[in-house]
Amino acid sequence: MRSVYIDAHTQLVGVLGYPVRHSLSPAMHNAALRKVGLNWVYLAFEVPPDALPQAIAGMRGLGIRGLNLTIPHKQAVIPLVDGLTEAAQRVGAVNTLFWDGAHLVGDNTDAEGFLRALREAGVEPAGQTVLILGAGGAARAVAYALSQQACTLLIANRTHDRAELLAKAFHAQAIEMTHEALRRIWADVDGIVNCTALGMTPDTESMPPVDWNLIPNDAWVCDLVYRPVQTRLLVEAQQHGLKTIDGIGMLVHQGALAFERWTGCPAPVAVMRDTLKRSDRR
Ligand code: NAP
Repeated sequence: MRSVYIDAHTQLVGVLGYPVRHSLSPAMHNAALRKVGLNWVYLAFEVPPDALPQAIAGMRGLGIRGLNLTIPHKQAVIPLVDGLTEAAQRVGAVNTLFWDGAHLVGDNTDAEGFLRALREAGVEPAGQTVLILGAGGAARAVAYALSQQACTLLIANRTHDRAELLAKAFHAQAIEMTHEALRRIWADVDGIVNCTALGMTPDTESMPPVDWNLIPNDAWVCDLVYRPVQTRLLVEAQQHGLKTIDGIGMLVHQGALAFERWTGCPAPVAVMRDTLKRSDRR
């Protein structure tokens, strides 16, 4: 592996968040930058909400080559950019800023990253019936991605009003997140995506309500939770013989897409994945 060498030519990319010190993105992107041999560095900036306009002005003034945005900046950055990609507009959130000439563009790579992760695992979702569990930011990116693939979408969420709002935006059907309501639809699903925080560390025993015996044998189960990588939902799905896709895939591919927007180089996906997996074991 090449060592980091910073000089007068070094270019800067990074992530803005608050808090941000838990982020795995610096390790993942710096490993990728070293692998392709670019004299760039990726840093994490802890930016409080009221300092976001100054941070974006700083990006413009300093010529920072690209940024990721995480909580709480994904919506707040929208009025600060010169344009949005269609994905960012439809998802209503920006996780990546890149330059198109002199224009600062806000993009959302979560949606395409999710689709790449599914396809990498051998799942082609086009035209399938998919149950989305959750109605937060990640669910919105997944709903947009799958709506672009002509999927029939069912959305269940703890707070049912939020499921209804999301369902309305993507021509989906909202369902109560209870065993009783879900029992009526399990036989029809080709895939299930957990976009809730259920199963995430430290509450690793929690999982959404699922009736494994009613779900078709050839269905797939994707969990966006990546801490731990093997959630209780995925372990139980495997025990019932179902195909599973963990949350690392989407995390790697949303990062890989951002890397490609900034550098124009194909992202070294295997290096990025290995770095994340090593970070998860720490
Ligand atoms: P968010 O906007 O805060 O949404 C959280 C969602 O989880 C909501 O639907 C919420 O339901 C639900 N939820 C939280 N606690 C719950 C509980 N105890 N029981 C039932 N439902 C519960 O968060 P987000 O950004 O969408 O993230 C959701 C999950 O996806 C997180 O685990 C995050 O780490 C993961 N994620 C992974 C990736 C990846 O690349 N793999 C990317 C983004 C997010 P209510 O509406 O009822 O509150």
